[in-house]
Amino acid sequence: MSIIVEKYGGTSVGSIERIQSVSKNVAKQVRQGYKAVVVVSAMSGETNRLVALAKSMTARPSDREMDTLLSTGEQVTIALFALALQNLEIPAQSFTGFQVPIVTDSVHSRARITNIEVESILAVLNAGKVAVVAGFQGINSTNEITTLGRGGSDTTAVALAAALKAKECRIYTDVDGVYTADPRVVEGASRIPKITYEEMLEMSGSGAKVMQIRAVEFASKYEIPLRVLSSFEPDEGTIITKEEDIMEQPKISGITSVDGEAKVTVRGVPDRPGIAYSILGPISDAHINVDMIVQNIGTDETTDLTFTVNQDDLHTALDVLAPVVRELDAETVVGDKNLAKISVIGVGMRSHAGIATTMFKALAEKGINIQIISTSEIKISVTIDREYRELAVRTLHSAFRLEERGKKE
Ligand code: ADP
Ligand code: ASP
Ligand code: MG
Repeated sequence: MSIIVEKYGGTSVGSIERIQSVSKNVAKQVRQGYKAVVVVSAMSGETNRLVALAKSMTARPSDREMDTLLSTGEQVTIALFALALQNLEIPAQSFTGFQVPIVTDSVHSRARITNIEVESILAVLNAGKVAVVAGFQGINSTNEITTLGRGGSDTTAVALAAALKAKECRIYTDVDGVYTADPRVVEGASRIPKITYEEMLEMSGSGAKVMQIRAVEFASKYEIPLRVLSSFEPDEGTIITKEEDIMEQPKISGITSVDGEAKVTVRGVPDRPGIAYSILGPISDAHINVDMIVQNIGTDETTDLTFTVNQDDLHTALDVLAPVVRELDAETVVGDKNLAKISVIGVGMRSHAGIATTMFKALAEKGINIQIISTSEIKISVTIDREYRELAVRTLHSAFRLEERGKKE
């Protein structure tokens, strides 16, 4: 009997009615003979509400207590979901991360799953019950509660699918698939029927919050067939799979944006070997993810090093760098929060020239100033003033004629 893992996000379990409605969907899979593992998020708005509670207590709450607080959201949903299934006469049992256990490292608020012991879940499935597992939370080796970063229930679902060798992992959400751009920003965005793991990784990593990036990393590593679909009107959705499984590759798959990037610039650093390491080493030791990096050589034997981080990490990054600037005898370190990053993504970029030119021309025509540019094999990203984020996304979506993709398919 095949195992399927179904994940329901916040909006999909946002009320008693929604939980009752989606539990019928799970009941249907069970009646078709599947062994079902359900992974749920907190009810919509709950995680934000809990974050606000902590922030009203203190401006910089400790990560350990934040994890203890935020993990409560999912615990409410697992119990309600199990009750909803039991109401439908489908035996079900809830599991917190600790009860599974889902073992993680100790990096609070962005922990990585290191191991999932599946015996307890398998025992429940073999007893003919549905296992309802709390997303987003885990436990470290010293029994501390950890969380996997915002959107982390996606990762719980994919990691469980890998550990249980599930037939498919379905991510039920409030859109009916992955689109060429966030459908809340671009009205004419088209649903993508199939996308490669690689492109989805780049999309998730550059702002498409429909899938958490670590979930896609897991899916790609273990080749888990992933499907993103609507919990409101389940249809085919979007399949995320290997490149070989996709017949025709468009040049560009999607446009993404991130609001809330911050830029850190260390100015007037004496130009000698080891500078990048001296600056970025302590940043990495503080578990801050660095995205784009640019180094400019000055004329007076000094250099400026600029890099971008999530705006929530800006404070810590500046604190970490204050002593480094003194040690290096650099001029100063400054931060700027008002950035957005816009990316154009597509595996077709490997074989088509001129993508960057089309991108820069379209932005120039709207008078949008580019601050930093970075490229990978299948992605071009720029940072701009955050005020122009939505305009830039819409401009690029039409410059690459992505509205027309939906019409052809
Ligand atoms: P859930 O609570 O189900 O995890 P999320 O809010 O995390 O849902 O993700 C779904 C949202 O992702 C959609 O409502 C949509 O606005 C947003 N989104 C951003 N980019 C994209 C994209 N390229 N395709 C689809 N949805 C996207
Ligand atoms: N509840 C968590 C969040 O809002 C995790 C998730 O929904 O995936 O980020
Ligand atoms: Mg999500």
